[in-house]
Amino acid sequence: MPYPVAKHPYMLAATDGEPARRFYDIIVIGSGIGGLTAAVGAARRWKVALISKSVLRDTTTFLAQGGIAAALSEQDSPQLHLEDTMRAGAGLCKEEAVRILVNEGPDRVRELMEICPKFDRSGGDLVLASEGAHSVPRIAHAGGDATGSEVASALAQAMRSGSRVQVLEQEFVVDLLTSGGRCVGAVSLNLRTGEFTLDYASATVLATGGSGQVYSLTTNPAVATGDGMAMAWRAGAAIGDMEFVQFHPTGLYADESPIFLITEALRGEGAYLLNHAGERFMVGVHPQAELGPRDVVVKEMVKQMSAAGREFLYLDATHLDCQKIRQRFPTVYETLRDRGFDICRDRIPVAPVCHYMIGGVTTDLWGRTTLPGLYASGEVSNTGVHGANRLASNSLLEGLVFSDRIVRDLDRYAGASGGSARRLTIELPAPATGKNEPAQLADIRRRLQKLMTADVGIVRDERGLNRALGRIGSLLEELEPPGASPEEYELYNLITVAGHITRAALLRTESRGAHLREDYPQRDDARWKHHINFRLKGDRREGEVFGGYG
Ligand SMILES: Cc1cc2nc3c(=O)[nH]c(=O)nc-3n(C[C@H](O)[C@H](O)[C@H](O)COP(=O)(O)OP(=O)(O)OC[C@H]3O[C@@H](n4cnc5c(N)ncnc54)[C@H](O)[C@@H]3O)c2cc1C
Repeated sequence: MPYPVAKHPYMLAATDGEPARRFYDIIVIGSGIGGLTAAVGAARRWKVALISKSVLRDTTTFLAQGGIAAALSEQDSPQLHLEDTMRAGAGLCKEEAVRILVNEGPDRVRELMEICPKFDRSGGDLVLASEGAHSVPRIAHAGGDATGSEVASALAQAMRSGSRVQVLEQEFVVDLLTSGGRCVGAVSLNLRTGEFTLDYASATVLATGGSGQVYSLTTNPAVATGDGMAMAWRAGAAIGDMEFVQFHPTGLYADESPIFLITEALRGEGAYLLNHAGERFMVGVHPQAELGPRDVVVKEMVKQMSAAGREFLYLDATHLDCQKIRQRFPTVYETLRDRGFDICRDRIPVAPVCHYMIGGVTTDLWGRTTLPGLYASGEVSNTGVHGANRLASNSLLEGLVFSDRIVRDLDRYAGASGGSARRLTIELPAPATGKNEPAQLADIRRRLQKLMTADVGIVRDERGLNRALGRIGSLLEELEPPGASPEEYELYNLITVAGHITRAALLRTESRGAHLREDYPQRDDARWKHHINFRLKGDRREGEVFGGYG
């Protein structure tokens, strides 16, 4: 069955005159935890460029609050972390990948602590927090609830203090370059000068983050438009597990974008979820009550909201020690105060919101995608560690661990293939003739986000998914081929990702982890204990679906 994806293998059209060329050993695309970790490591040996479509700190990583999960205490062990991760993943975690995550995680976090001294300690000992579905306190955090900004700043500092990384900010990577079945670099648009450049490299590391902007209500920043997943798909790499989109239970119920997230660690400190009758509705639903896995909590929240005919529930921390809350969660306390709430006195209205893309560009245990020369790390990747539902605070860890493995693999791969990229020429499609007006682009983006929230959101069914697929196709038809603006590129990418999420959600006729089908409410291991991957095959633009991890 055909399904809507962007129409062209390369979005970039040939421009007048020859684009400039730059040559590196390694290109890293993205400046979050995945990209910074890869760039810092690779620069020890290679000539590296790190490209970001915005400024360095404009990332999801910068917003992370709760912290990083790793077995760092005596009461914990990698085996326990593995069991928790696998249980949350609802039967779809790739065990080998999880084993790597939990075994290598503690050392990677300790190394991070050497360059980021702001991890919270008490009397010299690391303070570890509790979060949903973790059986012991395991979350290391920095600056209270400012882990992401502390970690990202420390990694950026480490990168800048070494001289070998060329940092290219405000350069929008439009497409990956391929030749002879390999990725040989990327094409980028300089957002300040409007010029395109062809960047050639022996290996390219995709670390472009998630795709939360596909939905109208999301905690993700504006940069999270799924560019990496869409460009990898166009280049012929497999993308998989796209139906698994994680919704976070406690987004602030407010008319804003992105939605402010209230970290799960607050529930770890004892905050309750209450319904409109003031009852703790999670007690009796899951043994860990409010700290059950995210999919379980979100599912119950949807039930409670629908029974009450309301769009929100409450988070209640009023019974906790106010001084402690202010100290431990300064970002949450101050942000809520700026919006008129006192978390020590007020119940806070919250609702589940799109938070994390579990699927992405499918990789092996070394971060290699199915396209030689292309690696993926962080939220853009689909390493298999999250299964059908990510365990809280495992994503920063995933970026750290797998970027480190990519760096180790680069030392083998890039060394073996270096230099050949210099001789390649790339043929780009003819320039677009039509034009997409900015107001029309903004309108289509809004309509896409709304329809994804309504029909491909937390609870799905065949009718809604088919309707969404049809409408995504119609939105695509309204567009001219992309010209040369980032708004056009992002919209094409969003449509590509939305099409794949919807198609995969339609195919998976069961409920599992973050994927809830009203018409197929049961988990069906006999038919569905496998993964859905998509990839382009030759010139067949409609792509193909295949199971497993290859
Ligand atoms: C509010 C919030 C709180 C969170 N808290 C936690 C937490 O406590 N613990 C945890 O483990 N996880 C948390 N997460 C999830 C976690 O933060 C992310 O999954 C992780 O930071 C993603 O890192 P990344 O390196 O993959 O991508 P990002 O940090 O999103 O970085 C992506 C980079 O790619 C660049 N980019 C994208 N497209 C292009 C393009 N076309 N060309 C050039 N550059 C491009 C962007 O500009 C950016 O630099 C949280 C997420 C949110 C939204």
